[in-house]
Amino acid sequence: MNASEFRRRGKEMVDYVANYMEGIEGRQVYPDVEPGYLRPLIPAAAPQEPDTFEDIINDVEKIIMPGVTHWHSPYFFAYFPTASSYPAMLADMLCGAIGCIGFSWAASPACTELETVMMDWLGKMLELPKAFLNEKAGEGGGVIQGSASEATLVALLAARTKVIHRLQAASPELTQAAIMEKLVAYSSDQAHSSVERAGLIGGVKLKAIPSDGNFAMRASALQEALERDKADGLIPFFMVATLGTTTCCSFDNLLEVGPICNKEDMWLHVDAAYAGSAFICPEFRHLLNGVEFADSFNFNPHKWLLVNFDCSAMWVKKRTDLTGAFRLDPTYLKHSHQDSAFNIFLTDGLFHVSFQHWQIPLGRRFRSLKMWFVFRMYGVKGLQAYIRKHVQLSHEFESLVRQDPRFEICVEVILGLVCFRLKGSNKVNEALLQRINSAKKIHLVPCHLRDKFVLRFAICSRTVESAHVQRAWEHIKELAADVLRAERE
Ligand SMILES: *Cc1c(COP(=O)(O)O)cnc(C)c1O
Repeated sequence: MNASEFRRRGKEMVDYVANYMEGIEGRQVYPDVEPGYLRPLIPAAAPQEPDTFEDIINDVEKIIMPGVTHWHSPYFFAYFPTASSYPAMLADMLCGAIGCIGFSWAASPACTELETVMMDWLGKMLELPKAFLNEKAGEGGGVIQGSASEATLVALLAARTKVIHRLQAASPELTQAAIMEKLVAYSSDQAHSSVERAGLIGGVKLKAIPSDGNFAMRASALQEALERDKADGLIPFFMVATLGTTTCCSFDNLLEVGPICNKEDMWLHVDAAYAGSAFICPEFRHLLNGVEFADSFNFNPHKWLLVNFDCSAMWVKKRTDLTGAFRLDPTYLKHSHQDSAFNIFLTDGLFHVSFQHWQIPLGRRFRSLKMWFVFRMYGVKGLQAYIRKHVQLSHEFESLVRQDPRFEICVEVILGLVCFRLKGSNKVNEALLQRINSAKKIHLVPCHLRDKFVLRFAICSRTVESAHVQRAWEHIKELAADVLRAERE
């Protein structure tokens, strides 16, 4: 494909994408295919002679689209949202064109510099404490990670290195292995599974603190675990607090657990993967109170802030905690502006960083372009309006559920997620979910809250409106009536 063909095909592709987005409501949100559907539809090996672009595009509708779950359909209410906006898609195209690997400043100065500024813009939108920003010659800073899971792992590994160094400085005879055996990390029993995986990958124990009646971690339960574990000779070193849990969007009590972590010299990582985007609205900012106690904070603009996957925003109070844990400097990656002590150098009064030392991979895309395009084309006001609309729609759904005495709301609705169920057995709720997802008019996923099987209704699509929510509820009510009738018979 040469430039002139690219020009033509590119325009066709933009039309295809715009048509897809415009017509997405007409597509069945969840596909009909069975596992293994795709392999028989395409050749077993790559073609020896080139195929044409037409052939490929035709196959997209024939082979790919029938197997797509349409996450951006206004009838998709499963999981949490994943962001999608036109400015982000266009920026991603440009990112592909520049195609740089921005591991250091020299590897593409704009890539590193725009990222530091965008992380400051975003940090200011959230009113993050200044200690987390790159802006001044302070110690903090922000970095774009690929996912919240990576951010948690990076924080855990940095905390592990930090505590090992601290303990070895006090007792040089201690081996790393002897220390690691005793390290223990914590999260609430509602934390995302990626937290447990970070513990597995990091080779440390991870303990779940029982959450309270509102599915929040509280001081008393944490204290109890700490006392017990310290009495057993373990070394508490890391804690993940969740703001907006995946199961039910509950909030750990940061104002209670934060000071305990500080007092115990434990690294506090705050995972607000979904809920973080809402903190750009002044009326939701209080949910972030206590972040001042954290060592690291993370949320996913790629969930709810219109920046397409992947874009996970992570800030640390002390960037040398990360660079100290992950820094290696082979000759082929060195460049002339490098400061060997901190890997930070000064140009025109600005601090810049080599992001390779803040993350697990070496390579990184020019992801800040997406933020730049989206933040400028929506403005903070546009982004706030978007969040507010979703929260309002979830309350609309909540009030529909509350008006029907057969149903109950399971957890207070704070942001864009409603946890609800039919009053009655788990079996009847499982049957309801099964009917919903076989009808494929809308798509939902369940969760377990303690021993209850619960349906999650998450406001997801950029284009979802009140009419879609109303239609979804009518549909759920009809299927519920069928389930209850079948139950009686
Ligand atoms: C979605 C979610 C995650 C995982 O996010 P990834 O970016 O896919 O790793 C982690 N924590 C919470 C609370 C989440 O809701």
